[in-house]
Amino acid sequence: MPGFTPEVRTACPHCGEPFTLRVDTDGADAAYVEDCPVCCAPIEVAVRWPLDGGGPAVELRQADA
Ligand SMILES: [Zn+2]
Repeated sequence: MPGFTPEVRTACPHCGEPFTLRVDTDGADAAYVEDCPVCCAPIEVAVRWPLDGGGPAVELRQADA
């Protein structure tokens, strides 16, 4: 779905603060590193899109600094 950037409410694996993650993958499974908007620590983001057309599932992990 080009041009569609869903937002997912999640929480930082470092500081535990909730934030809204913008999933910017053009509908493809992806993994990338994004800094936490609260504590600025690097977060490894893994995005998986379900086959039923629902919203993306995201998994966050502490990335190596
Ligand atoms: Zn954080």
